[in-house]
Amino acid sequence: MSGPSLTIGDYTVTAFSDGIFQTTIDTTVGVDKQMTQKISGKSLTDPVWLAVNAFLIEGKGIRALVDAGTGDTMGPSLGKLPENLANAGIAPDSISHILLTHIHPDHSNGLIDSDGTPWFPKAEVVVQDEEYRFWVERDLGEAHHERQRGNMQRARAAFAPYSKQTTRISDGEFLPGIIAQKSPGHTPGHTAWTIEGDGDSLMIWGDTIHMAFLQLQNPDIAFQFDVDPAQAIASRKRLLDQTAADRSRIAGMHLDFPGFGYVKRQGSGYVIEGV
Ligand SMILES: [Zn+2]
Repeated sequence: MSGPSLTIGDYTVTAFSDGIFQTTIDTTVGVDKQMTQKISGKSLTDPVWLAVNAFLIEGKGIRALVDAGTGDTMGPSLGKLPENLANAGIAPDSISHILLTHIHPDHSNGLIDSDGTPWFPKAEVVVQDEEYRFWVERDLGEAHHERQRGNMQRARAAFAPYSKQTTRISDGEFLPGIIAQKSPGHTPGHTAWTIEGDGDSLMIWGDTIHMAFLQLQNPDIAFQFDVDPAQAIASRKRLLDQTAADRSRIAGMHLDFPGFGYVKRQGSGYVIEGV
């Protein structure tokens, strides 16, 4: 699936689906599981399907993909991004930049195919410096647990063919009207990308929200995939407050496809309304 598109100044931003994956609300951490069941109306074993989205920014001679999907590493319900790009007439070698929100299997494994060949041979891969150091450069022995070590190994494979075309950044405007804002916790260099133009803006906020049906009502709910859950909660609240105050549009990797919306305060929590 691809589309719809939003226009932000001279840019067009189009949502592309990589597919969906199955999880459960039992992946929450640091909260009372009774409470998550009550909010969601689901048991701890009920299946929950989450979207994996990527976003294509086109304009000003730029064709930048925000995140690269799962590749062929997460089963048959995922890995659809290359096909969906092809169906929209987007050739992989026409992608000028991959702007990563973070390095996790569902965001960066799609940089390469199963042979380790780069999917986007001409793209400059752009990632926060902390993120690269944590997943790609850190000694494997420093992994917090086995799953993290596996992710570190896969990250190394994904970046290997891009070694001469990887740009490590810190916060700020990276391309005209395309701004990186670190929002750490889910991962150390997790980043929101904001597109601005003509007084309008869209924040592509990566994994600020995984389960909208839980975390909008209670942003203190973290996940076992958060490297630093307390920091992830603080970052989530900051971006929810910021986007609710600005009334800027947001796009999320795990919000139901196409993943666009506006954040609004509601009671002690938030809601996301469609664009
Ligand atoms: Zn994710």
